[in-house]
Amino acid sequence: MCRNCNYTEMLQTAGLSPTAKRLKVFECVGNSDNPLRAQEIHDALRQTGEINRVTVYRILDLLVERGLIEKMSSGDRSFHFGLAPNENHRPHPHFHCRRCGSLECLQPESLPVDLQALQKSHPGRIEAVEIRVNGICKRCLHRGTEPELHRP
Ligand SMILES: [Zn+2]
Ligand SMILES: [Zn+2]
Ligand SMILES: [Zn+2]
Repeated sequence: MCRNCNYTEMLQTAGLSPTAKRLKVFECVGNSDNPLRAQEIHDALRQTGEINRVTVYRILDLLVERGLIEKMSSGDRSFHFGLAPNENHRPHPHFHCRRCGSLECLQPESLPVDLQALQKSHPGRIEAVEIRVNGICKRCLHRGTEPELHRP
């Protein structure tokens, strides 16, 4: 949940009129603690009223294009959507669970990146840094050990 972001204003600043559907999609992504799959966003929004799957996907693409949200690859061809870094949210790394495919936001300070040093060693212009840490999430760890390793 975020009390600092004004989604209506952010849409307007990005040159988009804040229609009810755009707001619903944007709020759903922005209010989630972790990035969501398009399917999860559609499922959540359907609870509160009929919304077409194609509409949700189209709005997600539009918000990505305007830099309001980020589309993150999960390594397995599925994508997750999360709020793009803005004045209230610093860029941060993500944890990807290779068992259940979930993506978690990590604290920005958990894996600091020395952008200045990086820029010095790289002649091109760096615009964004995406860091993904792969492993097994807490929930999957508690659910039991690797089934594939324990099969007789
Ligand atoms: Zn916010
Ligand atoms: Zn997991
Ligand atoms: Zn995140």
